[in-house]
Amino acid sequence: MREDVFLIIDDQKSIALFLKDQLEQLSPLPVLTCHSLAEAKAVLNTDINVVVCLSDLHLPDAPRGEAIDLLNSHHITTVVLTGSYSEEIRKEMFQKKVADYVIKDSPSSIRYALQTVITLYKNAQRTLWILTSGKSAYSNKLVGLLRIHRFQVKLFESPEELSTQLAKSQPDLILLEDVDNIRHSNIYEFINKVRERFSQNQLPMMACEPSDNIATAIKMMKYGVNDFFNTTFTAEELYVRIKQNIDHANAYNEIEYISQRDALTGAYNRGYFFKQGHVLFNQLKQMRKYFFVVMADIDHFKLVNDNHGHQKGDEAIIFMADALQTVFADFLVARFGGEEFCVLGEAKDAAKIEELCAQLRVMVEEESPKKVGIPFTVSQGLTFSGEDLEGAIARADKALYRSKENGRNRVSVEF
Ligand code: GH3
Ligand code: MG
Ligand code: MG
Repeated sequence: MREDVFLIIDDQKSIALFLKDQLEQLSPLPVLTCHSLAEAKAVLNTDINVVVCLSDLHLPDAPRGEAIDLLNSHHITTVVLTGSYSEEIRKEMFQKKVADYVIKDSPSSIRYALQTVITLYKNAQRTLWILTSGKSAYSNKLVGLLRIHRFQVKLFESPEELSTQLAKSQPDLILLEDVDNIRHSNIYEFINKVRERFSQNQLPMMACEPSDNIATAIKMMKYGVNDFFNTTFTAEELYVRIKQNIDHANAYNEIEYISQRDALTGAYNRGYFFKQGHVLFNQLKQMRKYFFVVMADIDHFKLVNDNHGHQKGDEAIIFMADALQTVFADFLVARFGGEEFCVLGEAKDAAKIEELCAQLRVMVEEESPKKVGIPFTVSQGLTFSGEDLEGAIARADKALYRSKENGRNRVSVEF
């Protein structure tokens, strides 16, 4: 397989080295440097796969930007980093389909160029879905520009087609283009449906409309589209707007994930359990369906810590979380604190739930010596009743206490 690398081309060796050093600190890939067009040609003729190139515009053996043409002919995504700025060169660069054009006049512009290289690398994993009439003059331009930035672009010509796909997977951003000309569709109904499932923070939507149709774009924003630009957009405007919207959603999704999870095990935390648990509990009650709650707690866990150290204790808790999430995969599982876990779910068949508890008990007893290196067991309390979620948890806790009293490593039920 060809090795993926980033390439830096700059005739000033100290600058090339500085950029390599900086990029290596951000980079998941090796960074190569060259100092001339001839050297760049030699690299491109090897088996190495240049993923993104950060290139100087003027080189002693390529004074008129020939390096950019060379990179272009190899279809390499390129960020041009140059000492001189002119509007003409800037236009020429975007005509030559470079991914970005940065003036190296300050530490912040250099930082921007390096971060752009990383963004372009990651873009290959990002999917943009475009809902388009397929009839506008801008469609092709849009797709072409997005591909230069290495996005995975998928086109849809009807909201229904996009909705079907959205039920199976989630893109990083949805772009709505020339929506007035999409046949037989109610775009506002479509936006509503997307927003029922994903908030503006979770899945950004942008619109692209001609400047004489801003009213449509504004109306779409009132229905839940995050942002719009008009069809006179420039490449740079498109790129920064898309990046901002994706970055915002990524940051939100990361924070949301952290806020819902326990840092040690990755299982849901207590806060999320109650938030989601109340919704689920009330839904089940309203629909007159049965529910169950399990409280599970490792036996004599203090001894694990005391005899084998806190680190082993942590491993035991992680093992326990994995075992619970495997056995109760279809239900809401959370770490309540310490070595105590709670499960909530619909009890279609009470005997089946008791069976799952028994399965967990055996799994922990049999696998803890192999997976953690220490034998330990788990006690559980199970209930199928309670006025509210807190009441059900109290009943499961009471049952857990009975399991502990009666010798541990067992399941007790509080009906
Ligand atoms: P029992 O069988 O009655 O449940 O006894 P136990 O020793 O398991 O019960 P207890 O609840 O008294 O002990 C829990 C211990 O778990 C005490 C605490 O120091 C330890 N603990 C809590 N959180 C963590 C953690 O994140 N990592 C580790 N290693 N230990 C933890
Ligand atoms: Mg315990
Ligand atoms: Mg405990």
